[in-house]
Amino acid sequence: MQTIYETYSPEETAKIGRQLGKEALPGDVYTLIGDLGVGKTVLTQGIAAGLGITEPVNSPTFTIVQVYDSGRIPFYHFDVYRIGDIEEMDEIGYEDYVYGEGLSMIEWANLIEEILPEKRKDIVIEKDLEKGFDYRKITITSK
Ligand code: ADP
Ligand code: MG
Repeated sequence: MQTIYETYSPEETAKIGRQLGKEALPGDVYTLIGDLGVGKTVLTQGIAAGLGITEPVNSPTFTIVQVYDSGRIPFYHFDVYRIGDIEEMDEIGYEDYVYGEGLSMIEWANLIEEILPEKRKDIVIEKDLEKGFDYRKITITSK
């Protein structure tokens, strides 16, 4: 199933994130794809807020996964942009997170396609400058 949202401000994108965070169930996996500056962090901060997470959430710059435990369920925020080899995912305990009791969200998930669980939500954020600088199209495909 596919749902498409169109937003015209960061607040609207964050609101969609909050809704996703409220709906998330233990063991859910979201992937997040989109160019730099498109709003991945804005959406992620909304998701974290929807989970009830109180600490600040940014991109996990120096680690592949950042764990947040202050919400309704754990939140595992992955950024796999810098992985060199898929085996690095084993080393950080990827499967324990992804098949665990929290919500996993994986930025740049296309780089680890072969080890993604089949059941997941794929989230793609895109700009369309013809529709304005702040326009974003958010496509969510449930698999
Ligand atoms: P990414 O994490 O994908 O690199 P960020 O979330 O850090 O991107 O940044 C997105 C930028 O785009 C922010 O400066 C935000 O204010 C701006 N922005 C403008 N319009 C939107 C929108 N509709 N949705 C999300 N962000 C938007
Ligand atoms: Mg970011």
